[in-house]
This record gives sequence, structure tokens and C-alpha cells, in this order.
Amino acid sequence: MESTANMRLTTQRQVILEELAKVTSHPTANEVYDMVRRRLPRIGLGTVYRNLDLMAESGMILKIEVGGTQKRFDATTSPHYHIRCLECGRVNDIDMDFQTDINTAAANESHYQIYSHHIEFTGVCPTCTKKADSPLSN
Ligand SMILES: [Zn+2]
Ligand SMILES: [Zn+2]
Repeated sequence: MESTANMRLTTQRQVILEELAKVTSHPTANEVYDMVRRRLPRIGLGTVYRNLDLMAESGMILKIEVGGTQKRFDATTSPHYHIRCLECGRVNDIDMDFQTDINTAAANESHYQIYSHHIEFTGVCPTCTKKADSPLSN
């Protein structure tokens, strides 16, 4: 039996985790706050920020930085790639194999011990591509 005092899942964190797991949109802290507030009307934005940071530090969730904008959060913690739409700013997961080969290549080149890498793909999402193709639909 280990002590669970530090890692105790508070109700707040439980709700944050549940709400985050419901979406694949990689919400910002503000967006998480809006989702969580529907269930915990008295929660403050600062509390949500703090909990998100703590949860990211402990590996419960992923904190991602895309395009130098606001940090976004992800309940999927396994290594995966993200793609960001340059038009509307949405961030999606890409369901492709994580490329461990490039860690080896980077290690050979830099003589570092490589633990991980981050790649952010950018492009134009199908919705925005369609909009651009049919100017009359707007
Ligand atoms: Zn788009
Ligand atoms: Zn993701």
C-alpha cells in the first residue's frame, strides 16, 4: 500500500481529466475552464490552470505548445504527433507510427542521449480547404 496523499485525485482533477478525455480538440486552459465550470460552477480559472500544470507535471495529461500560441492540453499521453491548421488554428492528432528512428539519427549526430522529440505538422485542414475551393458557399 503506497501513500496516496500526494497523488490523491481530487474531485477537481477528476473532473478536469474526465472533461479533457471527452474531446480531441486539444483545448487551451481557458477552454478547459469553460468545460469544467459546467460541472463545478464555483471553480476558478487559477485553480484550473494550477491543476492542469500539476497534472501535466505528473504525466496524467500532456501539455503541448503549438505554433507559439497558448498552451493546449491533451488527455492522450502516449507519444503522438499533432497537426495544426494554419487557417483556423485547430490541432488534430495524427494517427501514424511514432518515428523512433529519428531519435537514433539525432543521437548519432549530436552524441546526446535522446529521450524524445516533438514534431508539429502544419497545413490546411479539410474544412478550410473546402471553404477555399468554393468561395460562393460563404
Ligand atoms: Zn482549418
Ligand atoms: Zn494529441
